[in-house]
Amino acid sequence: MTRPAQALIDLNALRHNYLVARDLHGGRALAVIKANAYGHGAVRCAQALQGIADGFAVAFAAEAFELRAAGIKGPILILEGCFDSQELIECARLGIWMAVHQESQLVAIEQTSLPAGSIHAWLKIDSGMNRAGFELYEVTAMHARLTACISVMDITLMTHFAQSDEPETHATQKQIDVFDAATGHLPGARSLSNSGGILAWPLSRRDWARVGIMLYGADPMPVQSHDLIPVMSLQSQVFAVKMLDPGESLGYGATFTANVRMRIGLIAMGYADGYPRCAPTGTPIAVDGVVTRTIGRVSMDMLTIDLTDFPQIGVGSKVECWGQQIDVNMVAKLAGTISYELLCNVKRVQRVYVGD
Ligand SMILES: *Cc1c(COP(=O)(O)O)cnc(C)c1O
Repeated sequence: MTRPAQALIDLNALRHNYLVARDLHGGRALAVIKANAYGHGAVRCAQALQGIADGFAVAFAAEAFELRAAGIKGPILILEGCFDSQELIECARLGIWMAVHQESQLVAIEQTSLPAGSIHAWLKIDSGMNRAGFELYEVTAMHARLTACISVMDITLMTHFAQSDEPETHATQKQIDVFDAATGHLPGARSLSNSGGILAWPLSRRDWARVGIMLYGADPMPVQSHDLIPVMSLQSQVFAVKMLDPGESLGYGATFTANVRMRIGLIAMGYADGYPRCAPTGTPIAVDGVVTRTIGRVSMDMLTIDLTDFPQIGVGSKVECWGQQIDVNMVAKLAGTISYELLCNVKRVQRVYVGD
């Protein structure tokens, strides 16, 4: 028997979530499949969405080239834009759209002699996140310089939100207002919403959404119910069972000590597979359909769970670390992080696809 750890990826759920997002948004939507589709496998996810999605977005050129090499057609936007003129030329040749968020990228476009109309530029404006993007006072001038380049086919105006998943704060509305004030006089399509924008900020819904975490069914606002289906189920099995006597400690650092006689299950899943080491004792985990808890420290290749109350569960029982039964948001919260990081970190385990 091979090691039973796997990430089961449900491509029907992926397509379902995409359509939920696009329906809510009302306009076109790029499926954001950067970072290997948040750990789900970019090529397979793109293939599953091909013909359904209006286009794709990734972080940088090499991620886009991989998709083109795998035969993915249609728009692919690189959210960080090009890093040099070599990439710029290759992106234009392959019909890859690009963010333009700093002057060096604009200069590279001005200085190349690419064919007329070969560049689709997404002019990124900093509306308050203070990360990437042009300052408000620069927008008009940068837009004019892009417009003057014959290589530029069209310009989409974009911005990104810092707190879209915090509906109780005013920050996102302020970013929307700032963006509108800075761009109201400029032509072109608009793109404001990421997943949080689509879900919580109807006024951010414009021509193009950029749907990331929602696609994978990990709701950025899990207290509300948004008809999303988890795409990944991170699974393994119990491969050994042992008893712990009162006073005995378990695992690295002896962070857990039994005070009654306990039954412990060993699971083939560890932090080298992407399960977070900092998930504390008590993190929920499902086994044969019931929910129990992790015990002791997560190690590189295995973790340990409490089976004291489940005598029927033993070697070969099926474990779900997150998926349909265990919300990845819950594990992330206990580990002090967000679902995005846990999903992106999944590695070493085999990805098994269903719903093709
Ligand atoms: C990653 C990313 C997104 C997707 O964000 P989600 O919160 O996952 O929906 C959208 N826009 C930009 C610029 C991004 O970098």
